[in-house]
Amino acid sequence: MPEGDTIHRAADRLRPALAGQALVRLDAGRARGRRPAPGTLIDDVEAQGKHLRIRFADGTALRTHLRMNGSWHLYRRGERWQRPAHVARAVVEVEDWVAVCFSAPVVELEHDDTATAHLGPDLTNAALTDAQLDAAVERLVTIAGPATPIAVALLDQRVAAGIGNVFKSEVLFIHGIDPFAAVGDLAVDTRRQLLATAAKLLRANATSGGPRVTYAGATAVYGRERQPCRRCGTPIRRRRQGEQARSTYWCPTCQPAIGRAPR
Ligand SMILES: [Zn+2]
Repeated sequence: MPEGDTIHRAADRLRPALAGQALVRLDAGRARGRRPAPGTLIDDVEAQGKHLRIRFADGTALRTHLRMNGSWHLYRRGERWQRPAHVARAVVEVEDWVAVCFSAPVVELEHDDTATAHLGPDLTNAALTDAQLDAAVERLVTIAGPATPIAVALLDQRVAAGIGNVFKSEVLFIHGIDPFAAVGDLAVDTRRQLLATAAKLLRANATSGGPRVTYAGATAVYGRERQPCRRCGTPIRRRRQGEQARSTYWCPTCQPAIGRAPR
C-alpha cells in the first residue's frame, strides 16, 4: 500500500531518469488538461504528501495519486513491462527510459497559470540581449522582492522565463551562492552572473537534448541528496523551499550561509 515514503522512493527512482530530459511521449489516457508537447524538458519529479508530480518546463504537470494499488515502474526503452498495458494509466517516455504508472485512480494534468502569465525575458532564447538580461536582473528585486530567497526568485517565471528546478540548484552551486540568501543580500553583479550562467546552461542543454548539466554530463547537486559534493566531498543537502515547496539541493560548504535569511 503506497504510503508517503513509497511515493518518495518512487520519485527518487524516476528523478535521475527523467529530470532534465526532453519528453518523447506522454500518454495520460483520458486525463483532461493541456499536455506538454514532445520535446518539452522535464523540469522535476517530486513527491508531495501522497502525490507524485512530474513537472514540465512549460508549466504543466502530471499529478498521480496512487491510493491502494497504484505504482510507478521504470523501464529501459524496449524492456518488457511487468504488468499488462491495459492497466497503465500514464506513460512518460524519454530517450532512454519509459516510466509507467499502473492502476493509479488519480491521473491529472495540471497547469500553472502563473508560469505563463507575465513572463520575464526568456533565457532560453539564443538571441537574448544584454538589455533583456538586465531587465531580468532588475525583476529579481522589483517582482520577486529583495527579501525573497534567491532560489525561490530564480524559479519565478515572471522574473525570467526558462529556469527550472534542476538549473536553479546547479547555477547557485556553480557560483557558490547560498540558496537561502535573500535577493537583497546579493551584489547586483552576483545576481547578473547567476542569470547569465542560467541562460548559458539552458541554451547548451537545449541543443544537446539532455541533462548535460555541469559535471561531465551529470548534475553537480540536483538529485544528489546525501551524496558527496563533487568539489569538496561534503554530503549534499536537500530542503523544500518557497510556497510551492520545491526541492533545493546545495553543498553547505561550497555555498556557505550569507546574510540573515532564516534557513
Ligand atoms: Zn562542496
